[in-house]
Amino acid sequence: MKVLVIGGAGYIGSHCVRQLVLAGHEPVVMDNLVFGHRDAVSPEIPFHEVDLGDREAVAKILRQESIELVMHFAAFAYVGESVEDPLKYYENNVGKTISLLQAMRDAGVDRFVFSSTCASYGIPESMPMTESLPQNPINPYGQTKLDVERILKACAKAYGLSSASFRYFNAAGAADDGTIGEDHDPETHLIPLAIWAAQGKRDKLTVFGDDYDTPDGTCLRDYIHIDDLSRAHIAVFDKLKKPGQSLFYNLGTGKPVSVMEIIKAVEEVTGLNVPYEMGERRAGDPPALYADSSKAQAELGWTPQFMDIKETIATAWKWHKSHPGGFDN
Ligand code: UDP
Repeated sequence: MKVLVIGGAGYIGSHCVRQLVLAGHEPVVMDNLVFGHRDAVSPEIPFHEVDLGDREAVAKILRQESIELVMHFAAFAYVGESVEDPLKYYENNVGKTISLLQAMRDAGVDRFVFSSTCASYGIPESMPMTESLPQNPINPYGQTKLDVERILKACAKAYGLSSASFRYFNAAGAADDGTIGEDHDPETHLIPLAIWAAQGKRDKLTVFGDDYDTPDGTCLRDYIHIDDLSRAHIAVFDKLKKPGQSLFYNLGTGKPVSVMEIIKAVEEVTGLNVPYEMGERRAGDPPALYADSSKAQAELGWTPQFMDIKETIATAWKWHKSHPGGFDN
């Protein structure tokens, strides 16, 4: 299938592109390179440096490349920034997604895969989290993702658009061949920051709170390997052949892992010490977030392969060790 991957030069998008190729599909990448890296995409893959809000340019690519399905990863994703500058987030994550959906209508493309987030649930009422939990996001970032989910539902009814929205837990790790990996600027995620501290690229890691009501006092999260995450996006293609679908799936391993367990696992995998200090809680961090992904497993025939956090961290380590400067190495 010919798939346009928007944000295909970013962390999740580039791993999806790689999995699409491995599965025999033909990805075409579109990215404005604001956060993406040109080197995250193999030179053999068609690449368009275009902004997703450019409706005419997007429609032209969709027609010229005979695209059958669009995957959309081009969102701003810094929670704190979304609180400080919500209009930037609504403009990019909602406004430009509307423009993209219009371009798809212009070009007659009616299948869509969307990257949503577990942040759309806000503070969950129960654990593990199923898709039927109420969605009450506590920051504009989560709200923008929920807004798009609602738009997709309306488009399914009105125009017959078929879409799948994946609510990610914590995407982690890197391609197992070490060719691509996580390279964010600024980096805010725990695993790369712990690895950087081990490598001496940072003085030390700050643990955001050790007084939560969890077994070791630090927050529990569900770290899903980026290749497992990507494979789910491809496993849904068959379901989208039927018009008018709007599907929603959680993607996680279902295994809660604490911040201290991550530090210990990074030390074991790298053989290095992770210098850290205990700090204050970070605003907006729920004590525990982990997924019930049984819906995705049952309906998509998808099973996460990386169930041991050390295996996931080992792939991240392979990437960071060989690319200490990220893609600019
Ligand atoms: N965390 C931390 N120190 C850091 C970065 C993150 O203690 O420098 C914690 C954070 O409070 C959360 C977990 O690590 O409990 C995962 O955070 P991350 O930002 O990677 O992902 P999030 O769960 O916020 O999407």
